[in-house]
Amino acid sequence: MSTFRALIAEGSGDGYTTRLGDIAEDALPPGDLLIEVAYSSLNYKDGLAVTGRGRIIRRFPMVCGIDLSEFAAGDEILVAGQGLGETHWGGYSQRARVPASAAVKLPAGLNLKQAMAVGTAGFTAMLSLIALEDHGITVGDREVVVTGASGGVGSIAVALLAGHGYKVAASTGRVETHPYLRELGAATIIDRADLAKKSPPLASERWAAAIDTVGGQTLASVIASTAAYGAVAACGLAGGADLPTTVFPFILRNVALLGINSVTPPAPLRARAWERLGHEAFVRKLDAIATLEPLSRIKDLSAQILDGGIRGRVVIDVNA
Ligand code: NDP
Repeated sequence: MSTFRALIAEGSGDGYTTRLGDIAEDALPPGDLLIEVAYSSLNYKDGLAVTGRGRIIRRFPMVCGIDLSEFAAGDEILVAGQGLGETHWGGYSQRARVPASAAVKLPAGLNLKQAMAVGTAGFTAMLSLIALEDHGITVGDREVVVTGASGGVGSIAVALLAGHGYKVAASTGRVETHPYLRELGAATIIDRADLAKKSPPLASERWAAAIDTVGGQTLASVIASTAAYGAVAACGLAGGADLPTTVFPFILRNVALLGINSVTPPAPLRARAWERLGHEAFVRKLDAIATLEPLSRIKDLSAQILDGGIRGRVVIDVNA
């Protein structure tokens, strides 16, 4: 019987363990596409799932990994989000079976590895940019701030915004990543601690817009300093899930708070975002954003991403 290697979570929502093990091919869940996985990636959500520090996995046993890219039925495809690693067996696996509707044809301009360097993180950064643009944000004198800038979503958001001509302020807690952020296109770097301080409900208008991956007081501070008619795309909670704000920025400055969900976007938006990602100039900077790691290191890497210790993106070679 044919078997393959995967990271399996066994137990229940009340407690589970994860291990690299062999699975028989006929144990794969139903789906129209049977695929040989080439690469997966590491996202904050993967860290939560693999370590058990967050309630990500909805069914057991589960194969972890929210992204994958592969060669299937003659086409190069990718799957990002869509319940992978949550309700459907995911990408930390040499083989997978998914519904055809979950897969996206690899966009022109990206190979299998680059697609995972982008992954859910890059897709989320692009959805955030699209949300800001659709709201009417355009390049101007004021800066757009990106929080959690050295992380996966943050790094790609900085590169994307800079590539489109925006002046980018990158907020980070890591001094050692300043040269990296400047290389990605950040014009200004601010200390994460400045945004983590309690802010008045309305502070002086500084940002034209924002992409926030941190949440909590940081998101509240960003909202309070966003200029009139600006917008904030909220996509993360690396610093907290609360939002200690007031209605004043919304009712006195017309600031808009735009929610970003990368898991289940409508199909036309998903197609639009991936197609654009294939054409982005920052793809040429992916080498600076991504490192390649073997699946055998996934547990260590998962703990590291939750501790804020991963810079940029990690591509996982599931066959190593
Ligand atoms: P990363 O860990 O790669 O990036 C998170 C960054 O946030 C870190 O690099 C760090 O940046 C900063 N950070 C970490 N801890 C704290 C803290 N306690 N206080 C302030 N800043 C902190 O994760 P991802 O880029 O994969 O994900 C970022 C966030 O976006 C996560 O919360 C994730 O769940 C969310 N997300 C949401 C999606 C959606 O669909 N809405 C999809 C993908 C991600 P630095 O060192 O520069 O300060």
